[in-house]
Amino acid sequence: MTNEAAVRRDGALRAAVARGLVGEEQPVAGLLDITGIRQSATALHAAFATPGVAVLHTFAVKAASLVPVLALLREYGLGAEVASPGELAMARAAGIPPEHTVLDSPAKTLAELREALALGIAVNADNPQELDRIDALLAAGPSRSPLGLRVNPQVGGGSIDAMSTATATSKFGVALRDPGAEEWVLRAYAQRPWLTRLHTHTGSQGVPLPLMAEGVRAAYDLAERINAAAGRRQVTTLDIGGGLPVNFGSDDTTPTFGAYADLLRAEVPGLFDGRYGIVTEFGRSLLAKHGTVLARVEYAKSAGGLPIAVTHAGAQVATRTVFAPDAWPLRVLALDPDGGPKKGEPVVQDIAGPCCFAGDLVARGRALPRLDAGDHVALLDTGAYYFSTHFAYNALPRPAVWAYSTAPGAEPSFSLVRPAQSLTDLLTESGADLPALQP
Ligand SMILES: *Cc1c(COP(=O)(O)O)cnc(C)c1O
Repeated sequence: MTNEAAVRRDGALRAAVARGLVGEEQPVAGLLDITGIRQSATALHAAFATPGVAVLHTFAVKAASLVPVLALLREYGLGAEVASPGELAMARAAGIPPEHTVLDSPAKTLAELREALALGIAVNADNPQELDRIDALLAAGPSRSPLGLRVNPQVGGGSIDAMSTATATSKFGVALRDPGAEEWVLRAYAQRPWLTRLHTHTGSQGVPLPLMAEGVRAAYDLAERINAAAGRRQVTTLDIGGGLPVNFGSDDTTPTFGAYADLLRAEVPGLFDGRYGIVTEFGRSLLAKHGTVLARVEYAKSAGGLPIAVTHAGAQVATRTVFAPDAWPLRVLALDPDGGPKKGEPVVQDIAGPCCFAGDLVARGRALPRLDAGDHVALLDTGAYYFSTHFAYNALPRPAVWAYSTAPGAEPSFSLVRPAQSLTDLLTESGADLPALQP
């Protein structure tokens, strides 16, 4: 992320307040920077581009399950990594073609597998039982789907347990270092000539780059052994997952896609020598820096000497930050009633959300200019997961999400990405239209 991105963001925050996208009626909204998203997509393509190597970048839909965002990414040449019927439906609604779609969930039902094979989307089987189901479906009729197996290289975890997919006991994929596992994998490929992909995702946030590269290296080495055993290039494509961590501490984008691709070129050179196609599945690193949650401060108070700003951004939009504050700290900007930077000496204060539980704080003991009622706060780097991981506590609605684009020197223009959930929507979802229960 560049200084220009921060300038675009500041302009968008002011304009969003001026246009009433956030105000009395809608006290919280999400904002996405189209220019920044385009720059990240361009950087990703550039990082992996290699003459003679077919590279497909898919976007992990769970990081922003918003159809207009998926369609924008499609325009920038990205496909979709989906992990549920809902995510697949969104990818299809965004016009992402089957050959640019990958299905990777640990709990695919028979119906999901059948649909995926009928559509021709790629499937990475998670475990032996799932592979048996695919065997049965293929026996009933052929499929164009590229098929692979997900392996867990068990290289270890990162700083956030819940995000570490490659620990010894992770629930994902075939645990490669378990006794007999590799022999089983080699047999599984030998028996199934249609298994042409190998998948690993050694993320996510908190996993250091060298460990990610070690996971890719383990998958690559295994592909080489599978192909040697088969006496032909059976595995044609390595799906290396996503998981590039994001810097939530400043406006700098580190690590970059370029740094990761360069590390892979050094550690796994054979991946880029033209014998394999590459699929990636980045989520957070494509979107996080380009999103902001903007919320009004409803009240400012103090308790036990501690100033507290009661805002409309809490656990309903910043769920992980509220429940796991040490793993998911966010930068918070203090903004004035116009959405511009709040002036004043920093004062240590809590930034609270609207939910009715005491821990609903997006920042604790943060030094910021003292916030007042009618001011605003901006939660930075919230473009990934925050708009798609809503928590329905207190029947708080999902906020609207707006995308902004900014021509140099011009005012930002906004397009709606997702409308705010209305009271009517909330009532319908809560069963209000159903017949009364018999007492
Ligand atoms: C979540 C996930 C991703 C994306 O992870 P990020 O950390 O957002 O890049 C990619 N692949 C799989 C299989 C995932 O579960």
